[in-house]
Amino acid sequence: MVHFVGAGSGAADLITVRGYRLLGEADVVIYAGSLVNPELLHYTKKGCEIHNSAGMTLEQVLAVVKSAEAAGKTTVRLHTGDSSLYGAVREQFDQLEELGIDYDVCPGVSSFCGAAASLRAEYTLPEVSQTVIITRAAGRTPVPERESVRSLAAHGATMVLFLSTSLADKLQDDLLAGGYAPGTPAAVVYKATWPDEKIYRCTVETLAATVAENGLTKTALLIVGDCMGADYARSKLYDPGFTTEFRKGAE
Ligand code: SAH
Repeated sequence: MVHFVGAGSGAADLITVRGYRLLGEADVVIYAGSLVNPELLHYTKKGCEIHNSAGMTLEQVLAVVKSAEAAGKTTVRLHTGDSSLYGAVREQFDQLEELGIDYDVCPGVSSFCGAAASLRAEYTLPEVSQTVIITRAAGRTPVPERESVRSLAAHGATMVLFLSTSLADKLQDDLLAGGYAPGTPAAVVYKATWPDEKIYRCTVETLAATVAENGLTKTALLIVGDCMGADYARSKLYDPGFTTEFRKGAE
């Protein structure tokens, strides 16, 4: 059995209770060493075999899983944040299915949630934005043309950009050309929820300079949107005059 486990965004105690239990029971752990906090490995049991996938290919990962299966062992594949976002898990799922190896998935706290907590931000503010666009700038890994940052920017929604720190110059141009006003609030969150987390607040117009001035090249999210500004409407849910399934509003 293979359990894909989301490690959370950084702080070791942000793994789910289920993920923690699975990690403690595993005979073999393959963790994404480039981004998973190594402190999480303290939760493994004595004698657990540990592999860092940062230097491994898909084939090498599968070889470790296959030999663990052959020995009747349980494997945890530990991915950063939540494995559904830029986790390269689908190719592993498909290979395991072909090999007849059973697996399941335990979700994790994605870094975009960790960053919202650090920023004390609400991505979906009433009458400001009710949509969060999660995407990346096109670089060595292409992005389908119909999802270009420039076209997505036209919505003016909250946007969270993964894997884009080293592409901030072009990104800023695309955000502006796509329709965000230059003064739209933005933030760069480096290592959200890690002990050495850093938060830089700026605007779309100063996003690339903020990244450059602080020497940021990776492990950061770029976040853009008026949800980080001052204006919004009160929620209907907690409005005294609004009736819900659970509460009758005042006339
Ligand atoms: N599955 C992960 C994302 C993996 S892609 C998740 O759900 O968070 C790796 C990218 O995620 C990094 O390049 C960076 O853009 C972002 N990232 C991951 N952890 C981060 C953190 N703690 N703080 C800021 N960005 C992070």
